[in-house]
Amino acid sequence: MMEEKVSLLVIYTGGTIGMTKDPVSHALVPFNFDNIYEMMPVLKSFDFRIDFHSLETLIDSSNMKPSFWISLTHIIETNYELYDGFVVLHGSDTMAYTASALSFMLENLNKPVIFTGSQLPMGVIRTDGRENFLTSLEIAAAKDENMPLVPEVAIYFENHLMRGNRTTKFNAERFNAFVSGNYPLLADVGVHIRYNKNNIIKPNFKKLKVHINLDFNVTILKLFPGISENVVKSTLAIPGLKALILETFGSGNAPTDEWFIHCLENAINRGLIIYNVTQCKSGSVELGKYETSVDLGRIGVIGGFDITTESALAKLMYLIGEGYSKDRIIELLQTSIRGEMTVEE
Ligand code: ASP
Repeated sequence: MMEEKVSLLVIYTGGTIGMTKDPVSHALVPFNFDNIYEMMPVLKSFDFRIDFHSLETLIDSSNMKPSFWISLTHIIETNYELYDGFVVLHGSDTMAYTASALSFMLENLNKPVIFTGSQLPMGVIRTDGRENFLTSLEIAAAKDENMPLVPEVAIYFENHLMRGNRTTKFNAERFNAFVSGNYPLLADVGVHIRYNKNNIIKPNFKKLKVHINLDFNVTILKLFPGISENVVKSTLAIPGLKALILETFGSGNAPTDEWFIHCLENAINRGLIIYNVTQCKSGSVELGKYETSVDLGRIGVIGGFDITTESALAKLMYLIGEGYSKDRIIELLQTSIRGEMTVEE
C-alpha cells in the first residue's frame, strides 16, 4: 500500500513575512498565496501536500486582537483531522502573545502548530522569511515512528524552535528576534534540525478540546522606581477588573511603602487576583527571598514562577473565561498546565 503524503495547512494572518514588492508600484503589499508556487517553486520539491488559508483581513500583528485568536483556533479545529500539522505565518510583534494564547485555547493538542514570521519581507532579496517558512514546514511535517515530533504550539525563528508560551520578542532588528529565557530550545537548526526530544511535550492521544471563552478583564502594571500612588490606585480601580499582572523587579520584588502594600491588600480583599511576574527575561519569582517580596506573599499576591508576561496574560484570560472558582484559578496559576512555567517546590 502506498504511504499517504504528509499534509500541512499554512495559515496566513499578515505581518512582514507575507509582504512582497508590487511590480508596478514597488510598494510592499501582501503576497497573494494563489501564486505561491510561482513565487516559491522550491515548495514543489517537498514531498508533502501543502494547502494555504489566508485570513480575510491580513493584519500587522500590532492590530492582533483576541477575536483573531478565536478565528485561528476555529480554523485549526475545523481542519484538525484533515492535516498532520499547521504553520501559522504571523507578524513577529505580538507572535508570542498569540502563540501563548493558542497553547491554552487548544487543549490536548497532538499536532504541530508552528508559528513563524520574519524581520524582512519575503519579497526582499535578503529576507529571513524564506528560511523561516521552509524550515517551519519541515518541522511541522517531521515525524518519528509515525508520530509528530513537535505536537505543541511553537515558534520557529532564525535557527531556534521554541515553546510558544515561553517566548518573548526581544529584538526588533536582528533576525533572531525571540528569546525563550526560561526553557531550553525544542530544536536547534543548522545543517541539521536537532530536536531536543526530552524538552518537547509528548502526545497524550486525547481528543482536541478547544476553549474560546476568554475574559478580558485583565491588565498589566509594570513597576518602576517612583511609581506613584495615583498610578497604582487608578489601575486597581479599573471597573470590572478581575486580575492584575504585577510586573515586578528581579525575583518578584516591589517597593515596601505602606501605601503600596495597602492598595494591593485592599484590592485583593475585594476579590482581585494579583499575579506576580518578573520583568526579567530569565529567572523566577521567589516570594519571600528578599524582604521586598515578603509582604506581597503575606497579603495574597500569587507568585508566577518563571512565566512570561505574554503567557500570564493569556493564561488569566483563559482561566477566568473558563469560569473556574477563584481558589481553583489561584491553584492553576501556580501549576504548569501547558508547559508554560517551571514550578519550584
Ligand atoms: N509589525 C510587523 C507585525 O508584527 C512586524 C513583523 O511582522 O515582524 O506584523
